[in-house]
Amino acid sequence: MTAAAQSTADAIQRIDSHTVLFGVIGDPIRHSKSPIMMNRAFRETGVNGVYTAFHITADKLGDFIAGVRAMGIRGVNVTIPHKLDVMQYLDHIDESAAAIGAVNTIVNNDGVLTGYNTDGIGYVRSLKEEAEAQLVGKHIVVLGAGGAARGIVYALSKEAPASITIANRTEQRAIELAASMNGVTSVVGVGNDQLERACANADIIINTTSTGMFPHVDESPIDAAWLRPGAVASDIIYNPMKTKFLMDAERAGCRIHGGLGMFIYQGAYAFEYWTGQPAPAAAMRETVLEALQQ
Ligand code: NAP
Repeated sequence: MTAAAQSTADAIQRIDSHTVLFGVIGDPIRHSKSPIMMNRAFRETGVNGVYTAFHITADKLGDFIAGVRAMGIRGVNVTIPHKLDVMQYLDHIDESAAAIGAVNTIVNNDGVLTGYNTDGIGYVRSLKEEAEAQLVGKHIVVLGAGGAARGIVYALSKEAPASITIANRTEQRAIELAASMNGVTSVVGVGNDQLERACANADIIINTTSTGMFPHVDESPIDAAWLRPGAVASDIIYNPMKTKFLMDAERAGCRIHGGLGMFIYQGAYAFEYWTGQPAPAAAMRETVLEALQQ
């Protein structure tokens, strides 16, 4: 039996009158690896919880949140397309989730629901643990200005890098995202026509666009010749785990960092908010890796 199957079996066996409910909502949702990852985390730490996936359409979002209160569901992860719309149903929004403008984690404290965003901090924890421990003073280029970029740029700006340049196909979105980050770090938004110049000076280049994601695995958001050897090339896509962008960057002499860690650590933070315990990140990663390789 695989670790993932064992985890599911163990979680099911342990369900009793004290079992606490958790879950992820989205539309679609059946592709999600969150249930196997979180149930493995519960098993590893001895938390009597069970985590499942709920297919919630937009018209049922309010009813679902009423159900969270009624049933005492302790924690919910929120994915596409509900990260913005869910905010109106919550009692409190954490300061960073409010600044990012999206919630991916809900904590239910006796019927009082608080929304957090763990995507950006999950990404930064992964980047620091797996690729670049020190972000202070670094020049960073972020490709893309969509939902994932929002959280990532916000979390990066807290690490005191020298600069963050957001480059996007639709330049206006990059400019607007940069303008919304009124922190101490210099954040500018540009069009892709200025990407080559931005990359020449970059220590870290992060792909947050969907370019290169399965099934479009032959696409890359950038010409690897623009990358500086020794720079870190980071991609938040984890299907495939090594995108064309990362393969090209590796050949160009860059250090590479894939998107699986972001997924693991956004879940690890959610686990920690819900349980108050350190998340078993290595076990969570093992289970997700195994599932992705099946
Ligand atoms: P999103 O809000 O739809 O944003 C997509 C971004 O990609 C936009 O900036 C868009 O540019 C750009 N883009 C899309 N197609 C493009 C193309 N052909 N050429 C150039 N730019 C293009 O999506 P998202 O939620 O931010 O997600 C983006 C990616 O991150 C997805 O692949 C997703 O799977 C991945 N992701 C990974 C994790 C993780 O845990 N590792 C978490 C969240 C997301 P325009 O503004 O011009 O349209």
